Amino acid sequence: MKPVDLRSDTVTQPTPGMRAAMAAAPLGDDVFGDDPSVNALQEQVAGLLGFEAALFVPTGTQGNLCGILSHCQRGDEYIVGQMQHAYRWEGGGAAVFGSVQPQPLEHEPDGSLALAAIEAAIKPDDPHFARTRLLALENTLGGKLLPFDYLQRATALARSKGLATHLDGARLFNASVAQAAHVGSDPRTEARRIAGLFDSVSVCFSKGLGAPVGSALCGSKDLVARARRIRKMAGGAMRQSGVLAAAAAYALEQQVDRLADDHALARRLADGLQGIEGLQVEPPQTNILFVDLVGPARERSAELLPYLQRQGVLATGLYRLRFVTHLDVDAAGVDRAIAAIRSFFHA
Ligand SMILES: *Cc1c(COP(=O)(O)O)cnc(C)c1O
Repeated sequence: MKPVDLRSDTVTQPTPGMRAAMAAAPLGDDVFGDDPSVNALQEQVAGLLGFEAALFVPTGTQGNLCGILSHCQRGDEYIVGQMQHAYRWEGGGAAVFGSVQPQPLEHEPDGSLALAAIEAAIKPDDPHFARTRLLALENTLGGKLLPFDYLQRATALARSKGLATHLDGARLFNASVAQAAHVGSDPRTEARRIAGLFDSVSVCFSKGLGAPVGSALCGSKDLVARARRIRKMAGGAMRQSGVLAAAAAYALEQQVDRLADDHALARRLADGLQGIEGLQVEPPQTNILFVDLVGPARERSAELLPYLQRQGVLATGLYRLRFVTHLDVDAAGVDRAIAAIRSFFHA
C-alpha cells in the first residue's frame, strides 16, 4: 500500500488535470520574456493579489531572496522572526549573497512579532548600525494564521518608520482559506486583503497548491524589475518554464478552495490523537499539526517514526512531531495514521 506521507505538503504529485495543462501549455523562452504561459501566470497572480507585477521563480527560497535583495542593499538589515523560513531555513541567503543582515526577533505564542519588539529593533540613523530597511513576516507561520488586525498594525508601524514590508506567503492561501472561514468571506478576497498590506509577497505553488515546482514574487513594476536582475544572478531565469507555470496557473484556478479539505483533515488527525497518554496535541489552525511527546513517552521518541514508517505512515520530528496534510492525503490515510500512532502507544 502507498504510504500516508505526512512529512510535508511539498510531496504532492501533479494531478492528471494538472499534467494535461502542462502538456498543453504554449511555450517560449522566458529569458527573452516571450513564454506566453509564464507571462499569463505572472499576470494572473499579480492580478489576483492586487499587485502591478509578479515574477515566476523556481523556489520559495529564491522568491524570498529576490524579495529581500530588491528592498535592501549591502549593509541594510531586515527584521524577521526567529522561526521564519526567510531567516532560519534559507542558508542565510540574504546575508551570504546580499550582505543584508537579519535582525531576528522571538515570536509571541500566536506566531506574531510583538510591535514593541519591532519598534525597539529599528536602529537610528547612526554609522554604528546597519540600516533597518525591511520588516519581513510570514503567514501562515508553522501553520498558524496571523491575525489580520495584527498584520494591519505591524505593516502600519513599519510604514510609519520608513520600512518596506515583505510577506513570505508560501502558504498564503492556507491563511486566506482559514481566514475566509472565520470572517465568512472567500479565499481569494482574503488573500488579496492580506497581500495588500505588504510591498512584496512571495507565494509557493509547490506546497498545498499542489504544483511540482515554482513560486511567485509579487510587487510593484520597479520592485519586480530589480528582482528579475537578482533572479538572473541567482541562476533562476529559466527558459521554457511555461511548462511549470501552467501547473501553477492550474493550481490557482482549481486547487485553492480545496485547501479547506486539508485543514479539516488536520483537525481529524488532531481529534484522533486527542487523549493518547504522552501526547500533547496543538489544535491545528490550517494544514500543519504539531504534537509534543511528554513524560515517559519522550523516552520512546526515537522509535516512533521508524515504527510508523513500517506501518506505512511518514512524518517528521522527534519530541515534537509534525504532520502536514495535503492533496495526496485523504480521510482513510489520516485514520491509518491515527491507528498506527495509537498502536505504538497501546492506546
Ligand atoms: C517551503 C517554504 C519556503 C521555501 O520554499 P522552497 O520552494 O522549498 O524553497 C519559504 N517559506 C516558507 C514559509 C515555506 O514553508
